[in-house]
Amino acid sequence: MIPGAGDPGQGGEAGHPLLSLRGVKRIYGAGDQRIEVLHGIDLDIRKGELVAIIGASGSGKSTLMNIIGCLDRPSEGDYLIDGVSSRQLHSDELAALRRNYFGFIFQRYHLLSHLSAAGNTEIPAIYAGMDGAARSRNAQALLERLGLGDKTSHLPSQLSGGQQQRVSIARALMNGGQVILADEPTGALDTTSGKEVIRILKELNAAGHTVIIVTHDPSIAAHAGRIIEIRDGSVIADRINESPTEPLTREESAAAGEDATPDLSLSPFRAFLAGLSRFQEAFRMAWIAMISHRMRTLLTMLGIIIGIMAVVSVVALGRGASQKVTDNISAMGTNTISIFPGKDWGDVRANRIQSLSVFDLEALRHEVYVDSVTPTVNTSVLFHYGSQEASGQINGVSDQYDRVRGADLAAGRFISREHVRDMAQVAVIDDNTRKKFFSGEDPLGKIIILGRLPCVVIGVLKKEESPFGNPDALKVYIPYTSAIYRVTGNNKLSTIVVRVRDGWSNAVAEQQIINFLTIRHNAKDIFTSSSDTILKTIQETTGTMTLLVSCIAVISLVVGGIGVMNIMLVSVTERTREIGIRMAVGARKSDILQQFLIEAVLVCLIGGILGILCSYGVSLVFSYFVQSMSMVFSLFSIVAAVTCSTLIGVIFGYLPARNAARLDPIVALARE
Ligand code: ADP
Ligand code: MG
Repeated sequence: MIPGAGDPGQGGEAGHPLLSLRGVKRIYGAGDQRIEVLHGIDLDIRKGELVAIIGASGSGKSTLMNIIGCLDRPSEGDYLIDGVSSRQLHSDELAALRRNYFGFIFQRYHLLSHLSAAGNTEIPAIYAGMDGAARSRNAQALLERLGLGDKTSHLPSQLSGGQQQRVSIARALMNGGQVILADEPTGALDTTSGKEVIRILKELNAAGHTVIIVTHDPSIAAHAGRIIEIRDGSVIADRINESPTEPLTREESAAAGEDATPDLSLSPFRAFLAGLSRFQEAFRMAWIAMISHRMRTLLTMLGIIIGIMAVVSVVALGRGASQKVTDNISAMGTNTISIFPGKDWGDVRANRIQSLSVFDLEALRHEVYVDSVTPTVNTSVLFHYGSQEASGQINGVSDQYDRVRGADLAAGRFISREHVRDMAQVAVIDDNTRKKFFSGEDPLGKIIILGRLPCVVIGVLKKEESPFGNPDALKVYIPYTSAIYRVTGNNKLSTIVVRVRDGWSNAVAEQQIINFLTIRHNAKDIFTSSSDTILKTIQETTGTMTLLVSCIAVISLVVGGIGVMNIMLVSVTERTREIGIRMAVGARKSDILQQFLIEAVLVCLIGGILGILCSYGVSLVFSYFVQSMSMVFSLFSIVAAVTCSTLIGVIFGYLPARNAARLDPIVALARE
């Protein structure tokens, strides 16, 4: 049976001593620096004894005590606890012994300064997995028993030395504390408080606890039933004290004997709850550490905040841009194919080529894959209305233009097939033109003069958001026949735009159009461009841009992560003593690892969330200045950002956390 895993056993009754040292040596350093502090100590301590270890300062008492309390291991020789060699025990098993079996009381109390008396008392129970309610109940009871019932919420700095030492006794008893190890417990106390502490220790001994007191003061040692004297690392005397001073009264010992050892064996479910409560505790500790260094934490977070903000904003901007373009293109007409004269973009002969004619338009109209078709005949002229004039653009279009391009009317109607047939002098004006000439007046039925062509206004278009061209340009739509025969004078079409019939693929229709017109013209003198291809190209471009900028943002995240790692390393160094105390009262390596890892993750996670909020702020500012486009946040990028910052916390927090968990408890405790 491994002691400390549950019941520590009945050392004395089983025939072997409770604690037994065999030729224990402790050697510090190596090579030239090698010092042997303990020279082969042999010692047996039985259950229920009250032992005083006495010796001059530097004689090796604390070293011996640390070995007895499993804070340290012998360099040579063996230490048996209830017959089990400590050499066989894993560091977690030693931690379990310190937690459940031994109770340490130090000269300098070693309380955690940011926790209350009750909080300090509860620590061993947290690591043992006692549930919260039982924990605070027991802590309260112990503190009351030690005369601190009204001081449970005081911080160590608000307590006197004697009171602090009593808190540390309560902590030692929290999980039972069968063996109480007190290293110079009265060393820092005045005589009265010192006596009080000794009285409590004797009461505990009377109640069945094995108590070992280390002291350099013979008058303290005189209270013990057995006095072991050590000098320069060797035991020089080990005697029974026949008449210990101040024997206890019966009532006092009865009062002290009430403590029942808490049941520390855990069922799987309780073990899970215990793990959860340890996690909760680690979380709380990390939180306390963070808010006690607000400025430092904030500066550490800054890297993460900026990195996450950059990533999220850039992705949102990219999405906003591509959505805007997509919207514009679908506003231009879904699934459209534009046909241009010439071999390709920039064909110098395109102007002279008469390849797109009115007859092509009529022919295309009857093709099976064509839903609707319109030409565009553009020309710039002066518009007159009354005494006002302005330059604008005439667009000669077919009656199907509104179907191809998806133009929305604000008032009136669009050009009809009859208007096209009759070369009617009718015009549909856009919003800019309406504003220019007809503010406060109904334009319908009015006559506007386009160049030298008077037209009746029959419709007004809604304001359109076009990605191309001048958004303030005045545009007027008239039948293309009127444009050709009444304005330009030639039947050259600048473009034909086809809306592909639903169910036909763009690519197939495009090929069909090329074949159809090539056969008609006996040459391939036209080229096409489909809304699909444009859309794809633009989306690919924005995608590439987003990726590029995201890479830069990721670099800033890595830099932020390194910042977190630096600060965590500093934090570990700063809190070495705290780590030592926690280990002394039974924290496992994994508990320490967990605490620091949580802290790092918390810093990064909060940084990440702040980064997302900042990026939202950026989008508000952005939308204030740029109306035409907005940033589009995606759930994916936010989830990715949060995951990313958590990962950074884990990755960059691991090294400092591991450093903390690897600390040797006695080295850590010795650090101030
Ligand atoms: P005591 O508690 O009896 O005053 P200690 O056990 O603390 O004595 O120390 C005994 C001797 O061991 C001292 O001479 C001290 O300098 C030395 N010592 C203690 N800890 C270390 C250490 N970590 N490295 C080197 N020497 C140490
Ligand atoms: Mg000492």
